[in-house]
Amino acid sequence: MNKPNIDPNMKALVYHGPGSKSLQDMPKPALQNATDAIIRITKTTICGTDLHILKGDVPSVTEGRILGHEGTGVVEEIGSSVTRFHVSDRVIISCITACGKCEFCRRGMCSQCEHGGWILGNTIDGTQAEHVRIPWADTSLHPIPADADEEAMVMLSDILPTGYECGVLNGCVKPGDTVAIIGAGPIGLAALLTARFYAPADIIMIDQDESRLDIAKKLGATMLIDTRDGRAVEKAMAMTLGKGVDVAIEAVGVPETFELCQSIIAAGGHIANVGVHGQSVPLHLETLWSRNITITTRLVDAVTTPLLLKTVIAGKLEPKQLITHRFALHDVLAAYETFGNAARERALKVILTC
Ligand SMILES: [Zn+2]
Ligand SMILES: [Zn+2]
Repeated sequence: MNKPNIDPNMKALVYHGPGSKSLQDMPKPALQNATDAIIRITKTTICGTDLHILKGDVPSVTEGRILGHEGTGVVEEIGSSVTRFHVSDRVIISCITACGKCEFCRRGMCSQCEHGGWILGNTIDGTQAEHVRIPWADTSLHPIPADADEEAMVMLSDILPTGYECGVLNGCVKPGDTVAIIGAGPIGLAALLTARFYAPADIIMIDQDESRLDIAKKLGATMLIDTRDGRAVEKAMAMTLGKGVDVAIEAVGVPETFELCQSIIAAGGHIANVGVHGQSVPLHLETLWSRNITITTRLVDAVTTPLLLKTVIAGKLEPKQLITHRFALHDVLAAYETFGNAARERALKVILTC
């Protein structure tokens, strides 16, 4: 393994099958195609999706895979056809790898890219490492403006575009709407922050964790529903004078929360699913068939990242509020422990610094 003059290894968080992971030495990635770039990671984070992977819910992730699909870094090497980026540029790594040329990319549906999509930390090695190879670098990285706060930039890899595209845009949030967001985790809170662009009359945050509801209130939720008493539907209907909500954003991914959306949606309303579902959910067409509602699903396309970046730089969006813990990459196992016990640790996003 040891080549002269150069350390061929790096530290990385490696998946070893359900319930098993380790921080270990892995070979540094090398360019494979002319469109690749190698990025030296400066900051990365852990996503709820990584916890799903560790539970064994995502069979496309095989043993030996480096996890992680979010982060920022510095361009270390570029393939011969990369034109938008140069060595030592600071970049945001998008969770979605986009070739930019296939039919789906041309339609702005990069999540379904024929040569990419969500592959980082899934079918190719990811960002919870000192270095990562990014395919289609020109269309999968974003430049970081000189004066930008790098921790805020990490929130642009995944959670802000996910909350905004899958929740707010698909939910068609409009001025004066009553919006319910079910799930006050990082994605639900990202939906809350970006829903506020559209001046909804009310944002009702629904969760079973009191400390997350407190944070939601600080971030602009106008009403809170703690679901632990089992009366969420009753409370939401009372808050909306029996009409229900115009937009219900599902940001959990279990049958109960999607059913809750169906129970509280107003006539003409939009149910926007964001959650990652591992099992089937009853669809109550016996009550909804005549109610003019729309149900949407989406995997983030990350096509709004440049727009969201501008709102962060302009101070209209402050995603650093979602960061609760900070670790060094070599403490990534402790970071997983904290993030995996989010309620006990009051954790939202954890930042890992290389
Ligand atoms: Zn993610
Ligand atoms: Zn494509």
